[in-house]
This record gives sequence, structure tokens and C-alpha cells, in this order.
Amino acid sequence: MTTRRKFLGQSLLGAFAASDTSFWSKTFQGAGFAKPKTLPLVIATWDNRKATQAAWDVLSADGRALDAVEAGARIPEADPLDTSVGYGGFPDRDGHVTLDACIMDEFGMAGSVCFLENIMHPISVARKVMEKTPHVMLVGEGALQFAKEEGFKEENLLTDVAKDAWEKWKLKSEYKPVINIERHDTIGILALDTKNRIAGACTTSGMAFKMRGRVGDSPIIGAGMYADNEVGAAACSGLGEILLRTLGCFLVVEEMRRGASPQKAAELTIERIVKKYPTQCKDAQVGFVVIDVKGRHGAYSIHPGFNYALYQDGKNQVFESKSLFK
Ligand code: ASP
Repeated sequence: MTTRRKFLGQSLLGAFAASDTSFWSKTFQGAGFAKPKTLPLVIATWDNRKATQAAWDVLSADGRALDAVEAGARIPEADPLDTSVGYGGFPDRDGHVTLDACIMDEFGMAGSVCFLENIMHPISVARKVMEKTPHVMLVGEGALQFAKEEGFKEENLLTDVAKDAWEKWKLKSEYKPVINIERHDTIGILALDTKNRIAGACTTSGMAFKMRGRVGDSPIIGAGMYADNEVGAAACSGLGEILLRTLGCFLVVEEMRRGASPQKAAELTIERIVKKYPTQCKDAQVGFVVIDVKGRHGAYSIHPGFNYALYQDGKNQVFESKSLFK
């Protein structure tokens, strides 16, 4: 049963979650209340601090979480040095860069594109799918046609570096995902704004040298990313085939709905995935970043080596995630 004192504490925490913390310190800290986590916040898979910075620029001006995650995701998409997202992404085994992305807003609306070629910002196309069509997902030629109709310009996304890497890969043509080595740098990014609106985005060129037509978890709502304004949000990076079979991000959010903290929810989900696919998980990485609507966060991976960027309380920092295997 909720006691009145506890209830009062909870209401105060809610009321101050998005407000001035110096007022909080002066007024309540001495009285023994725990300091609430402050809003806004943004978290992203891997060391994507430039992305969290771009998102923060939106959030710190009281902007919408949806605009923040889109702005963040566009950073690695345009970066030729990022070989697993957008421009500069490693191609499939036939030499084509094919992109996947999805986005979700505070109302639970979602948009997604898969197997999109020659468009640098799939995340913005996914947002247009969400906002301008009655559908959730467009793929391949249809997605490209829609993007062009919306004014996106077609361009070659295969850089010389990515082409060279592909030429080298072709000498042996081995498709062996290796933990944290085969450049799992997919960005999943989640934000909670000062008006308590949540949003998430995920964008990738997928596994390097994949089969033509292969789509992973990243553009699949619930697999690569999921956001629910009543509970929280999760995003991930790692071997898409495992995440597709488990709808990992949906599961994380559902664990939070049942009462788990963001950290616990990520841990329970990783444990469940490893229990179900012990052999595959020996050699494959999966890592989650998670936030809840109270402004708490968590992260967890199967193997060591997964890290994440968090921008909160005015600090843009990278942290190593805890992992199930040491
Ligand atoms: N999850 C992505 C995929 O399987 C890969 C990654 O995280 O880099 O397409």
C-alpha cells in the first residue's frame, strides 16, 4: 500500500523531474529526499557523442524529443568515416550500400524504411513515412520512389574507403560476424524532453557485406528500437538476426512496464536472449541502451566492449556498458 509520505515523495519527484535542480538542492536536499534525475536526456549506442550533442541542442532549447533523435541520427548518417551508418557505410556483398532506419514519437506513431539505396538520410525518410503516409514501413524501390517524391536527392553513398574494404573482403568472401569487431556501430538514440515526451530512432547500413536484400533488426519497430510514452524506450546494436527473433527492444520496454528499472530490464532481456540462443551468443554481440519516463537510464550487453553516450545534466559522456559475460 502506498503510504501518504511515500505518495507525497513520489508526487514531488514527478513535479521536480523536469524543473530547476538548484531550487531542488536548496529546498529539499537537506530534508533527505533523493535528487530526481533531470530532464532532458539523450542516450545513444556506442560513442556517438556528436549525435547526442546535436540532439541536446534541440532538447536544451525545450525542443521535441522526436526532433532531437532525428537530428542526432543524421550526424553519423552524413559522416563518411562511420562505416556502419549512411554515407560511407560498408556495402553488401554485391557492392551496394543499403540502408535501414526507423523512428517513433511520443504518441506511439512509427515510421520505417528498409533496403533503401542512394539516400543519405534514411531516418528523415522514415519520419516522412510516419507523418505523411498511412503506412509504417516502405522498402527498396518503393521507399526510394517515396523519398524522391519528398525531395530527397539521390547520391552515391559508397566511399573509396568502403569500396576498398569490400574489394579486400571479396578476396576471401567470409561472412563471420565477430564480437565488436565487425563494426557494429549502428546508432540507436533515445530522448526524453523537458515536456516529458519520449522518442527513439535507429539507423544503419546493417551488417557489412551482408547478402543482397538482407534486413536486420534496426528498422523493425520493437526489434531495433521501441518507445512508449507511458513507460520508456530501448534501442540496440548487435547481431540483427538474434534481435529479430526476440524483438529485443519491445521486450525491454515490457520488462519496465512490469516494474523493472531500465538497467534491470536490459539485464533480464539479455539473460533471456542468451538462454534461448546460447550457441549463437557465444560469438555475437548485442547491446541495449534504455531510458524510462522518470529520466533513469540503463545499458547492458552480452559481451564486454559495448559502450554508449549519455547527455544529461549538461554533461555529454561515454560509459562502458556492463555485460553478462566478463
Ligand atoms: N543491428 C545491425 C544489423 O544487424 C548491426 C549493428 O548493430 O551494427 O543490421
